[in-house]
Amino acid sequence: MTILGTTQRPLRVAIVGAGPAGFYVAETLFKQDLNVKIDMFEKLPAPFGLVRYGVAPDHEKIKNVIKIYEKIASDSRFSFFGNVAVGQSIGVVELKKFYDATVFCYGTEADRRLGIKGEGLKGSHLATEFVGWYNGHPQFRDCCFDFSHEVTVIMGQGNVAMDVARILCSTAEELSKTDISQHALDELAKSRVKEVHVYGRRGPVQAAFTPLEIREMGGLKDAYPVVDQKDLQLNEASSAETHGVVNSFRKKNIEILQSFTVLKHQNRQRKFVLHFLRTPVEIIGKDRVEKVKFEINELTGDAGQQKVKGTGQFEEIECGLFFTSIGYEGVPMQGVPFSPEKGIIPNRLGRVLDGGTAKDGWYVSGWIGHGASGVIGTNKIRAEETVRSLVEDLEDLPACETPSTEAVVKFLRERSIDPITFIDWKKIDAYEIMLGLKAGKPREKITEVSQMLSVAKEPSY
Ligand code: FAD
Ligand code: NAP
Repeated sequence: MTILGTTQRPLRVAIVGAGPAGFYVAETLFKQDLNVKIDMFEKLPAPFGLVRYGVAPDHEKIKNVIKIYEKIASDSRFSFFGNVAVGQSIGVVELKKFYDATVFCYGTEADRRLGIKGEGLKGSHLATEFVGWYNGHPQFRDCCFDFSHEVTVIMGQGNVAMDVARILCSTAEELSKTDISQHALDELAKSRVKEVHVYGRRGPVQAAFTPLEIREMGGLKDAYPVVDQKDLQLNEASSAETHGVVNSFRKKNIEILQSFTVLKHQNRQRKFVLHFLRTPVEIIGKDRVEKVKFEINELTGDAGQQKVKGTGQFEEIECGLFFTSIGYEGVPMQGVPFSPEKGIIPNRLGRVLDGGTAKDGWYVSGWIGHGASGVIGTNKIRAEETVRSLVEDLEDLPACETPSTEAVVKFLRERSIDPITFIDWKKIDAYEIMLGLKAGKPREKITEVSQMLSVAKEPSY
């Protein structure tokens, strides 16, 4: 029997997806007392997942985490296969031929939908489209947003909604020093949006944003936050939900919202308005979004178990743009078990489950295994759990038939796929930084896959 993880026969692991989860799985595997070889597959030419294409451009410091990922990628036991979409360029069963274990870390790319009338109207968008657009994601670079109306409405009160609101409330000057894509900066500089209204179906205590992110809304150059003091008069159960260490972020949120009620406007022109206890029931408009109709809710039940109940009272707000920002869910990959209810790959401690039974050699980590919640660092803890399971299973893993990275390259080339290596990526990276330097920005992203490929493969760059 082949013993995997030895000098004679290193353990071969394929990681699908080059976001934080993928890199933390690689890092944790390298820390094991194992001889391991990792090939990471990424469908885009660029690595780093949502750190590159999700994290807001004005949150530059967060992106410093990339330095850790670059260090992992520089390990001689690591190979990067960019521009290779698993499930399309290479099938999951085909991967089994070359790898003893596969770890799915491909994130959760689909937005949750409200499922209400009018959601498909022109001017109604998903937060992902806007985020991808301002962050230069090739799939969203051609999206169009109409910023000619003064009022924008966002449904959802998580940190993504805060990102969307903050970008809409920022001045072109504030944004111009960030790595926001130039096409987005040009459009946002002409924006006539003056009011950004952010709605939640529950109360301020239950809002999903975190203190750092809500506090930022008070520090913008040309926008001020508006919170109705009445919304901060909490019922007994909500008040109880601010107690204890686990709820300290809620307590802090309420303190920040309180501080907003007395904040001076100081001639700031734009408004960021929070609305609570409102569920959208219809997006109204003839050819495009004109209004959103909300039902007014109340909270009922005990602390920690409060439910939203519609009151039968409704209100409307006129607007020209509407964004749905109510979280994400995963998309199934052909041949891989999937839970449509949860939008994840079902798993136990990172082992992929098929009808309750663990699939030999298949593991999962990050958002596609746990759902779309948590910050970048959360994925490190989850990666450790997944790697622990993989290492426990080592003796039972069936050794793959062709343990060779060169054979994978040959296989892909036979399909006319020329993967992007990490050295190729560094060429794209350097080119983007050079473009950014000219514009006084940290980088200007290349937003077309074809141009990324030509920069990567062009010998003179
Ligand atoms: P992802 O980061 O989504 O990475 C998945 C990767 O898999 C992607 O690169 C994708 O292209 C690739 N992939 C998909 N399908 C395939 C396929 N078929 N084949 C190969 N590759 C594939 N957290 C913070 O701590 N701070 C922040 O400021 C912050 N901002 C955020 C902003 C937004 C808009 C969002 C949505 C999230 C933000 N987060 C932030 C959360 C953080 O980004 C996530 O915790 C983290 O990115 C999840 O990592 P992941 O690797 O599971 O998924
Ligand atoms: P999120 O934190 O889960 O927030 C989703 C919001 O949508 C909540 O307000 C939720 O309200 C609401 N919602 C869900 N379903 C709804 C429905 N059917 N109708 C109406 N409202 C609904 O999701 P997110 O904002 O997409 O963020 C995802 C993760 O990334 C989070 O963990 C977040 O912290 C992280 N992130 C972090 C940062 C940062 O650190 N700066 C930035 C961006 C994202 P209920 O609570 O009532 O369900």
